[in-house]
Amino acid sequence: MADLEGFREETRSWLEEHCPASKRGPQADTEEVWGGRRVSYKNPDSKLWLERMSARGWTAPTWPKEYAGGGLSQDEAKILQQEMQRLRCRLPLISFGISMLGPVLLEFGNEEQKREYLPKIVRGETRWCQGYSEPGAGSDLASLQMRAVLDGDEYVVNGQKIWTSYADKSDWIFCLVRTGPDTPKHDGISFLLIDMASPGVSTTPIRLISGYSPFCQTFLEDVRVPKQNLVGPLNGGWTIAKRLLQFERSVISEGFGVSPRKRSLEELARRYLDCPSGTLPDSLLRSRVAQQIMEDECFRLTLKRSAEETKAGQGPGPASSMFKYYGTELNKQKYELMLSLLGMQGLGWEGEGFEPEELVITREWLRSKGNSIEGGTSEIQLNIIAKRVLGLPD
Ligand SMILES: Cc1cc2nc3c(=O)[nH]c(=O)nc-3n(C[C@H](O)[C@H](O)[C@H](O)COP(=O)(O)OP(=O)(O)OC[C@H]3O[C@@H](n4cnc5c(N)ncnc54)[C@H](O)[C@@H]3O)c2cc1C
Repeated sequence: MADLEGFREETRSWLEEHCPASKRGPQADTEEVWGGRRVSYKNPDSKLWLERMSARGWTAPTWPKEYAGGGLSQDEAKILQQEMQRLRCRLPLISFGISMLGPVLLEFGNEEQKREYLPKIVRGETRWCQGYSEPGAGSDLASLQMRAVLDGDEYVVNGQKIWTSYADKSDWIFCLVRTGPDTPKHDGISFLLIDMASPGVSTTPIRLISGYSPFCQTFLEDVRVPKQNLVGPLNGGWTIAKRLLQFERSVISEGFGVSPRKRSLEELARRYLDCPSGTLPDSLLRSRVAQQIMEDECFRLTLKRSAEETKAGQGPGPASSMFKYYGTELNKQKYELMLSLLGMQGLGWEGEGFEPEELVITREWLRSKGNSIEGGTSEIQLNIIAKRVLGLPD
């Protein structure tokens, strides 16, 4: 315990000294750092902050030091997180490598793969995207058809992925490919790491209803991939794929548990509705706001308790589906409410008559609809909860 208190003090003073002032408090989405070969920094402090944090391995605090991680225990990592929150330090790096690929490489990768890929993820040198979904394989992911055929020391990969978030900005893709075409569908899938700069890889962006284009169709045509890029056993990719999804669902729900950077619901209500006495006159809206605030807080505390109950090093389990499902529904409900509070000001898309913050809320309301699809739809989460959490029969 004394050690932990010492660690807290050291961490606090290090953060106070090294976290640039501009990396504290709310930050625009445009200043988020995703790293990668083509990274550019709108704010030079973002680069400095990433370099300082990654030099200590604190972009991936619990990963072992030999792979450039922080080597922290779960308790120490929690202290680091608390101290960062206390100073309102922004995350130095947002990365699918840290939240999704890294944890499964630590569990299933060989030594060479860990040494090759993990340090570059920690330092934000490589940006990864996720190649799971295909036009005919979403919820029924095991139906995927992208083929990988061994030819000498390389796999030759052909096929198409879809909804690949940030494929056009990423350096590498972790892909599910079919290597056993004649086996039952779950048994013929492998987990392959592919450099997006390889000849034969191309992407085309897809536009979302919100107007943003964060994801792409990804095409692979006779792409040659060294066979050492196979993670885990040949045709053993399904187990890795499912494990990675638990990490993905867990990180999605954690995002819903973080306090919003935008104005709180109370602030929006006061600003857009006539509340002369400080109380919302519309009792229906008032109780919706109160209910939402309570549910958000309960969810945040439940996430926190669950993280504390999880045994050190065990990572998320099937319960990640419960949090993903509930967090998604809560977030969608919150955006519906925000739009109700905005009234006519929530009807803008672009142009005059609307403040930038209002336009962002409207677009994010539309974006929130995707929450119940990404990382597996809400119906699929309910199926997993029924089978794997509640143990109900088929
Ligand atoms: C914002 C966003 C980002 C994404 N990013 C990525 C990414 O980076 N990489 C990637 O690989 N994919 C990504 N996806 C794709 C996502 O994983 C799939 O869209 C999702 O798994 C659903 O697949 P689908 O779109 O093919 O829908 P379908 O599987 O065709 O589902 C259609 C409808 O049928 C329902 N349904 C299907 N099967 C069942 C069942 N067994 N029981 C009950 N209902 C069922 C679904 O719930 C849904 O309502 C992203 C999606 C979104 C929205």
